[in-house]
Amino acid sequence: VKIEIICTGTELLIGHTLNTNLQFLGRELDTAGYEIAEERTVPDGGEAIGAAVGQALAAGADVVITIGGLGPTCDDLTRDAVAAQLGTRLKFDATVHAAIVAYLGERSIRVPADALRLQAMVPEGATALLNRNGTAPGLWCPAPENRLVVMLPGPPRELRPMFLEQVLPRLRERGPATVLRCGFHVCGVPESVVAERAERILTEFPGIAPAYCARLGEVDVRLSAPPACAPTLTAALNAVHAAFGPAALPPQCPDPAAAVGDLLLRRGWWLALAESCTGGWIAKTLTDRPGASRFFCGSVVSYSNDWKHTLLDVSADTLAQHGAVSAETAGAMLDALFRRYEADAGIAVTGIAGPGGGTPEKPVGLVYIASGIRGRPPQVACSLFPGDREGIRQRTVTLALNQLRLQLLQA
Ligand code: ATP
Ligand code: MG
Repeated sequence: VKIEIICTGTELLIGHTLNTNLQFLGRELDTAGYEIAEERTVPDGGEAIGAAVGQALAAGADVVITIGGLGPTCDDLTRDAVAAQLGTRLKFDATVHAAIVAYLGERSIRVPADALRLQAMVPEGATALLNRNGTAPGLWCPAPENRLVVMLPGPPRELRPMFLEQVLPRLRERGPATVLRCGFHVCGVPESVVAERAERILTEFPGIAPAYCARLGEVDVRLSAPPACAPTLTAALNAVHAAFGPAALPPQCPDPAAAVGDLLLRRGWWLALAESCTGGWIAKTLTDRPGASRFFCGSVVSYSNDWKHTLLDVSADTLAQHGAVSAETAGAMLDALFRRYEADAGIAVTGIAGPGGGTPEKPVGLVYIASGIRGRPPQVACSLFPGDREGIRQRTVTLALNQLRLQLLQA
């Protein structure tokens, strides 16, 4: 199945809105085993979307998914443009109309009758996909030569459930998945080393294609194969995964934060943080996933020396002698998490994120990460990270979580 996605919206082209729908559809289609052949974004206005759909069909797309422009305003022209392109007429659909009236009624929203009618227009032969988070239905619209145009609303909270509940199951009925993919993350190993090691093992598994995506402090390894090679793919995944030992996160595990959370939960341990240069970013990362309240106490975001002293008991001597960015300060911050906050596991970070504040002895990018488990020797690592402020802080977050993860694995 050759799938093409066309997004409409000038706000996407001018950078006012990040195209999160594309990311969502890409991930979901990939997980389901479908490949996206092409993606395009066109400005508002019916002409561009109509032309783009026509070109996609002419280029041999089996399924064209359009996003946006189904609403009630004058710039919402996708429905009309696609119907014109396919040479079908729009017909008023009383069932869709009744569903929209009911949706609005439950929320006591009043809408002009014309706007309401407009959204109940359905191309002849098309199926309306009811929208439980908004008014405009999606449209499942057969096209000549057994092809298909699927129109979805732009707001992510409307598009996402509609896609998962109504589009994906129908897509599966049309044709099987074309590619199988699986993978895992490796932390703290450079991309070239990851690739070399993976490929040495993959010589024993013909038909399995590797791909790598380097992030800051992490590399994603992805393996893909045609559906017929499913058993080989599983064997290849196990072999490549094993080659990385503890550096590899479990397959399905999205990041070191998730791995840390799982390891803490398994032991019933509680984690506390002392964050200086990351300003709470490690805490944010841990709490991005639901369920963090079962293992995460909190973070002392101690940016100033004053707070390092009063909230984390870092002595004035330590700060004066070694400075706020030092192994001694990081170690003392960690210590306080166990003594004062009674954590079972802890991470403390202090560093120079830049762009200013560096010296010849302590340059920008210098970061100390202390981590450990109550009652066991802590680990204090000194790193000199390249990159800008954002990159240095992101690497600190990833590395700090990974450092604790490795300690938890051994505990
Ligand atoms: P509405 O009924 O809200 O008008 P619509 O189907 O006409 O829905 P649009 O008008 O294109 O959709 O977009 C509605 C909202 O969804 C806008 O805030 C828009 O920025 C946002 N949106 C549209 N497409 C995307 C996208 N690809 N990624 C993220 N947000 C998007
Ligand atoms: Mg709109």
